[in-house]
Amino acid sequence: MSTLASNQPYEHLAPQILADLGLATAAAHLDQVAQHAAAEQWSYSHFLGYLLAGEVAERQRKTLLLTLKFANLPYHKTLEDFDFTAQPGLDRRLVDELATGRFLSEGRNIILLGPPGVGKTHLAISLLLRTAELGHRVYFTSALDLARRLSKAVAENRLHRQLAVFMQPKVLVLDEVGYLSLEPAHASLLFQVITKRYEKHQPLILTSNKAFGEWGQVFGGDAVLASAALDRLLHRATVLHIRGDSYRLRERRQAGVVPAAPAPAAPDFLPPPTVT
Ligand code: ADP
Ligand code: MG
Repeated sequence: MSTLASNQPYEHLAPQILADLGLATAAAHLDQVAQHAAAEQWSYSHFLGYLLAGEVAERQRKTLLLTLKFANLPYHKTLEDFDFTAQPGLDRRLVDELATGRFLSEGRNIILLGPPGVGKTHLAISLLLRTAELGHRVYFTSALDLARRLSKAVAENRLHRQLAVFMQPKVLVLDEVGYLSLEPAHASLLFQVITKRYEKHQPLILTSNKAFGEWGQVFGGDAVLASAALDRLLHRATVLHIRGDSYRLRERRQAGVVPAAPAPAAPDFLPPPTVT
């Protein structure tokens, strides 16, 4: 390497060598970190570790930004943004366990069930963000969008490529399964994605407002297909039932936009309050 052939002292060569090795962040911070290391009397290995840790952190930050650019997220919400006190029925320890990312190596699906507005999509996005932070590719889509895109791909003779889009990410969110019942061709395409991901141990995070017993309707009235899909989905899965109130309505109620539900009337048989 030409830099090594020169007679300059290593202090002068160091930034260029770091740059030659592709360690741009370390090169840019070398002077500052070296001065700090001298002032604090760091050991040589502490200095080197610190400098390289900065390089790695910057690379991870850039990779994460790129991952999120292609993740198709409808909005950005984290677990820290989730108010667990609003959903006392939800097992927080279970959510924290999922946030460790162990479900990824186990190929375990996460299924979030409950009525509209209770935070299913929010939690799905948060867990997707955690997965991306752990360095994996992720993708968000709704069941209907996935079915429409696959069916367009069939018409254009490129199903294989479109399926790859839904297979490659480590985690795929399938949002709003069951909001609309799928037509039979769409149902069978959704089934293909569920099956292929199951076979490859690639987790799905799925949200639905429909209980499993109603999935026949979801799959275009095909109860056999629905039960085959559920069989694969539930073989390795964590199911979270969220039964509380809609968070949106709760917030609007607190802001006074929606009248509060009337307090239940006191039963007649209570004695009248005593005035003292
Ligand atoms: P769902 O998918 O169950 O219909 P969402 O996840 O889309 O509901 O939630 C609706 C809105 O309310 C979102 O903006 C979400 O961030 C917010 N939200 C829901 N539940 C909570 C919660 N427990 N804490 C904080 N925000 C919440
Ligand atoms: Mg939702």
